[in-house]
Parts: sequence; C-alpha cells; structure tokens
Amino acid sequence: MNRRAVYPGTFDPLTYGHIDIIKRAVKIFDEVIVAVAHNPQKSPLIPFEERLKIVKEALSGIRNVKVDSFQGLAVDYVKSKNVRIILRGLRMISDFEYEFQMALTNRNLDRSIETIFMMPSEEYSYVSSKLIKEAASLGADLSRFVPKKVEQKLKELLKNKRP
Ligand code: ADP
Repeated sequence: MNRRAVYPGTFDPLTYGHIDIIKRAVKIFDEVIVAVAHNPQKSPLIPFEERLKIVKEALSGIRNVKVDSFQGLAVDYVKSKNVRIILRGLRMISDFEYEFQMALTNRNLDRSIETIFMMPSEEYSYVSSKLIKEAASLGADLSRFVPKKVEQKLKELLKNKRP
C-alpha cells in the first residue's frame, strides 16, 4: 500500500518544529506532501513565492518529501492529489481546540479524509511562527528555532519595521 499524507500549513515561517513533524512523518508514510497555503487573507509576513522557495530549499535533503502549494480548501487539494490523510502538528493543549475544530470541519466537508496529529520533540513544542516573528522583530538570535535562510529572510523583511 502506498501511504501518503499531506501536511498543509502557512509556514510563515517554516520552523524546526514543522521540520521535526515532517521528519517523524516520513518514517510512517511513504510520501509526505508539504503543502504551502497561498492564503492572502492571513496576511503572511513572507510573500507566498518566497515562503514556497524557502520551504523547498529547507526540505530538499529529506527523502520522500514533496513540496507543493495550494489555494482554497485543504480537503479539495488533498482530494486532488488522491490522498486521504491530512497531517497536522499538536504542540500544546492550546493548539487542541483550533485543530479539533478544523479536523471536524474537514471531516464534514469530506468523510473520506482523516486528520492525523503528531507531536514534535519537546524542545520545539513551544516554537510558533508567530513568536518567531515577534522575536525576529526584536533582533533575537533565532538559530535554534529556524533554518539560517529563514532567519535571514525574516530579518530582511523586518529590517525597516523595528521599533
Ligand atoms: P496554519 O496556518 O495552517 O495553522 P502553520 O504553519 O501555523 O499553519 O502550522 C501548520 C501545522 O503545523 C499546524 O498543525 C500547527 O499546529 C503545526 N505546528 C506549528 N508549529 C509547530 C511546532 N513547533 N511543532 C509542531 N507542530 C507545529
């Protein structure tokens, strides 16, 4: 059986927490499609094309990972790839409510699709893209949390926005 999963997300930016989930997932699935959302309504800091490029570069060394993008409903994208599994990460209890609502909504949109959750290593369980952006805007060293390219891109984008 060819077990494939789609890991959808905004990845604004991609962190070592996301990468930890992806590395765990490829041990379980034959292929993991990392799907970068093109969702301007979330007003991402990193423009879509650059986010996609960074994710592609950062994951190029991991076998059985494909990077793609999607617009609109994740379930529609997943179905278009002939996949039945959506992979999501769960860090803390605080993620649970949102992820639970989303998984149940997606199930109601398409009953053939299951959402599977994975937990990252505890060292990444408090890493969030939102906090990384805040820390970057204050000039913090982010090397423990994000790949070098991500740190460079954040600092470049935030250069003119520093308080
Ligand atoms: P979205 O806008 O779809 O929530 P994110 O890029 O914020 O996109 O997150 C994608 C998925 O990765 C979500 O399931 C989120 O809970 C998970 N995630 C985010 N950060 C981490 C982390 N540090 N460790 C594990 N999972 C994470």
